[in-house]
Amino acid sequence: MVSHFGKEPMATEEEPKRKSKLNLSIPNHILSIDPYSPGKPLEELEREYGIVDSIKLASNENPLGPSPKAITAILAAAEKLNRYPDGSGRRLIEKISEYHSVRPSNIVLGNGSDEIISMLTRTFLQYGDEVILPKPTFLMYDILARGAGATPVYVPLKSLSIDLKRIERKITAGSKMIFINNPNNPTGTSVLRKDFENFLSRVPESIIAVVDEAYIDFARDKNGLDSIDYLDSGKAVVTLRTFSKVHGLAGLRIGYGIMPDEISEHLNRLRQPFNTNSLAQVAAIAALDDKVFFEKTIHLIHEELDYLYDSLNRAGIKYFPTQTNFFLVDVKKSANGVYERMLKEGIIVRSMASYGFPRYIRVNVGLHDENMRFLTALKKVI
Ligand SMILES: *Cc1c(COP(=O)(O)O)cnc(C)c1O
Repeated sequence: MVSHFGKEPMATEEEPKRKSKLNLSIPNHILSIDPYSPGKPLEELEREYGIVDSIKLASNENPLGPSPKAITAILAAAEKLNRYPDGSGRRLIEKISEYHSVRPSNIVLGNGSDEIISMLTRTFLQYGDEVILPKPTFLMYDILARGAGATPVYVPLKSLSIDLKRIERKITAGSKMIFINNPNNPTGTSVLRKDFENFLSRVPESIIAVVDEAYIDFARDKNGLDSIDYLDSGKAVVTLRTFSKVHGLAGLRIGYGIMPDEISEHLNRLRQPFNTNSLAQVAAIAALDDKVFFEKTIHLIHEELDYLYDSLNRAGIKYFPTQTNFFLVDVKKSANGVYERMLKEGIIVRSMASYGFPRYIRVNVGLHDENMRFLTALKKVI
């Protein structure tokens, strides 16, 4: 909706209430975008539903909080907030370069990995270019591809997994970019290394394969893909990673991409000089050093997933095993209805109705007590 300043215009019989006085012509590709609706903040839901002490299991966040080393680094750096950040993010880039054994020139930092997606679509796509994406997957690929005027081409999942064979068959002379979410949000499935190798051998060099690995640290399948291994494959592979999930820094907005120099050098033309802030830069360095917190997080998620699987099995509730910190549950009735009733129990989950799964909810793993409360509420509600 177009916003306007000053007083709300008077509604008359003839004029629709929200009719804009501004004579804007909005490009059709912008009008075609379905805005992303993030989960509502806890405080808002508690007020709306008159509940207290609710639990949010809807945004795949780290239930343990942020990395403690990151918090210490942020407090120390706060003293210098009068200064602009290091626009090149040199220290963080060096740290990531050591962490993954890649060259600094391969790394681009973003205000969340979402910003890297945005830079990729704005740098490489022109009006009418085709972008191939699985359906359903993370909604930002569609939004940002459309934002650049590109045409999304959807490829349905096969048994909840990304279907690389079918993606390959959708490639045309107009294809410029392919999005692969490994593991995939919202289904939790990994791409297998051997399937990716087959796929990559057939993809033209001119197409950028963006592999978003926001959840890869949680994956337990040993045959799963780690796309950083294909940085020097001679194909245009871009890996996306984030500090928002396993490191617990979602509120800080910091992520990065790893890519061939021929891609990073063009992204850097468009990148805003201070796109990542100084607190985020020092916190991310500290988080990569915080092995204890990292291990604690992975251990919690795996142990609690096993507990949840076991409890759901006993209750006869169908779910889909995951390689991430969230999973789908088949509630066998309206997911929107279950979402509403879970809210009244003080548990926030995601209905998957808008993702094309009207009977599935997505829930992320919380602390043990939270998972127990989730199970009790779910059994009551369904
Ligand atoms: C959470 C998430 C991200 C992380 O985005 P940031 O902008 O780094 O917070 C990226 N991709 C997927 C699929 C996600 O679910």
